[in-house]
Amino acid sequence: MATPWLALWRRLALLFAGAALLGWLVDRLTLALLLAALGSLAWQLWQLSRLDRWLRSDRDVNPPRFGPVWDSLAAQVARLRRQNRKRKRKFGKLLEQFQQATAALPDAAVVLGEDDRVAWCNGAAQSLLGLSPTRDMGRPIAHLVRHPGFVAFLTQRPPGDSVEFPSPVDDALLLGARIVPYGKKQRLLLATDISQLRRLEQMRRDFVANVSHELRTPLTVISGYLETLLDSENPALEAWRQPLHRMQEQSRRMLHIIEDLLLLARLEARKEPLARKPVNVPALLADIADDALALSGEQNHQIEVNAEPALWILGCEKDLRSAFANLAFNAVRYTPAGGRIALRWFADASGAHLMVEDNGEGIAPQHLPRLAERFYRINRDRSRGSGGTGLGLSIVKHVLNHHGGQLRIASELGVGSVFTCDFPAEARVEPTATTAR
Ligand code: ADP
Repeated sequence: MATPWLALWRRLALLFAGAALLGWLVDRLTLALLLAALGSLAWQLWQLSRLDRWLRSDRDVNPPRFGPVWDSLAAQVARLRRQNRKRKRKFGKLLEQFQQATAALPDAAVVLGEDDRVAWCNGAAQSLLGLSPTRDMGRPIAHLVRHPGFVAFLTQRPPGDSVEFPSPVDDALLLGARIVPYGKKQRLLLATDISQLRRLEQMRRDFVANVSHELRTPLTVISGYLETLLDSENPALEAWRQPLHRMQEQSRRMLHIIEDLLLLARLEARKEPLARKPVNVPALLADIADDALALSGEQNHQIEVNAEPALWILGCEKDLRSAFANLAFNAVRYTPAGGRIALRWFADASGAHLMVEDNGEGIAPQHLPRLAERFYRINRDRSRGSGGTGLGLSIVKHVLNHHGGQLRIASELGVGSVFTCDFPAEARVEPTATTAR
């Protein structure tokens, strides 16, 4: 750094010394110094204009020679230019790779800016959502994808939730979309083709429903014959009585599982909203308590019903009966003889609630999250032995879903369990005298 400046100062010193000597010789010292200063200024200005011209030229050429200090300035600018060009090439390559990667993504990705306007989208967004990367930039996504479910999802912005809707490009494609917020006001919309997944689920449901349906008739026949044989007074059958009893028990169990599977298939297949009628829940619970008492038999459980008499809800009585009976029968089956079971039906500001409480064996906390899964049983033999199918709580969950409600489970091992069905306040209805149960 010091060298060019030294050279410049040396050059200026020489110029002014020469000018002073010449001025002194011709007796025009001030004029000579002034001319030297003007000359030096003109030279600097000329270098400046050359540097400016070189900087403006876009060509990648080495700087011309300017003279001390100016040369070093030009060299530094040239170095910065080279670095800049290198960086540009690197980012360009990165951007190209990123674009290639997002174009290869099978899922649609759309960056939404302020007011959910499209800021960027990838190739799959064109084929799945029908967006155009040129025409649709800056337009609100709700104007481009108009499915009511999607628009509602967009405005409600439920965190971590997703929505399913048919593709605007092809009705046969079912899309699952999620929105991930990032940055200050930006959101990333991700949409996946889930048609295949839903088709497989439907195939599984149809398969289970068909198999159950096909098995029901032969099993009913077998069960009927077994009953006839057991009713028969024929002494030749005396030795077979015990095995026949076991066979009848098992065929009844199988029929029970099939009935539950068919009920679940029916609940799962139901797409249209439920045909709701006023349901007299207090009377329903009284019936269920009688059945639970019969199930308890000699085990002598104390079953108590405490229901608000005028608390009716809108719903499907048959399904509600299945759900409530499953909870009450579970309480009997998983509570030791003589135990206490309470059915409470009441309303508060949040809605109507059924609490099925027992002081039975209870459930360890690690089982609670999986309890309502199909065939999830804590103790398989214990459940089988008491006539369980492992489908009861799945049925309860589905029925409650159809009624806009939910199931809550609280339990402590060795103390007891509380299963609560919560119904929304809108489900409440005034009792009607005419409605037959
Ligand atoms: P299952 O037909 O086996 O009773 P469910 O789906 O009704 O199937 O229940 C799943 C499991 O939850 C049962 O196997 C049982 O282990 C547990 N369970 C359900 N209700 C109770 C209860 N009231 N007390 C203790 N455990 C229960």
